Amino acid sequence: MRLDVVTIFPEYLEPLNVSLVGKARARGQLDVRVHDLRDWTHDRHNTVDDTPYGGGPGMVMKPEPWGEALDQIIESGDDGDGAAKLPTLVVPTPSGRQFTQALAVELAERPWLVFAPARYEGIDRRVIDEYAERLDVYEVSIGDYVLAGGEAAVLVITEAVARLLPGVLGNAESHRDDSFAPGAMADLLEGPVYTKPPEWRGRGIPEVLLSGHHGKVARWRRDEAFRRTSRNRPDLIERCDPAALDKHDRKL
Ligand code: SAM
Repeated sequence: MRLDVVTIFPEYLEPLNVSLVGKARARGQLDVRVHDLRDWTHDRHNTVDDTPYGGGPGMVMKPEPWGEALDQIIESGDDGDGAAKLPTLVVPTPSGRQFTQALAVELAERPWLVFAPARYEGIDRRVIDEYAERLDVYEVSIGDYVLAGGEAAVLVITEAVARLLPGVLGNAESHRDDSFAPGAMADLLEGPVYTKPPEWRGRGIPEVLLSGHHGKVARWRRDEAFRRTSRNRPDLIERCDPAALDKHDRKL
């Protein structure tokens, strides 16, 4: 998968060199290219913002540098074979659709994502409208709060997407039982997990996990997931398909 990020703070994206995403880059599974938006400015001060039309506080990112940057990045997908590859544009914004595991799965199927994280009050709307005529554009919010800029959102989205790519996680099964994963545990949060030693500060582990009985372990995991979801996120239980609940769930 190819990922391009256009930002006025390229150094903010340095965490993309470490851990899971860094290793995926080193193995050639992810081609990450970080660009400085100011490279597409032409004045002495490398200006990327201006005052908002209609007045009000804050500044708005100017359309010209964004347009030049995005055009050049899109053109780089044309390798001359007559079939230009087009990226999906991801615009982090608190007014976008909610970023969920389902959306991470959807984005992980795209071969090329271009991120446009903003600063100030956001990007001049015409930029999003212009590219929406040519590309799939996702305006995405990572939560109901306001960050100073979209770079942290790019890190969040990239990490959630990258771990879904084939071969990126050491064990391909690792995300099967995650919270929100599709399948048997759909819509439930993952329950508690334990490792060795069997006793720590006088605390043991649930007997069933030592039983070696796969059926009982699976039942226990599901019950714990259901209890945790009911306690921490009752909205998920209310929203879930009643057919996804079994008789045992209903008794808890
Ligand atoms: N005035 C904007 C509003 O209220 O919707 C907030 C702009 S915020 C200070 C600057 C930038 O940070 C946004 O344009 C976006 O790129 C990013 N950002 C802030 N909160 C975000 C969130 N919850 N999800 C995704 N991106 C966010």
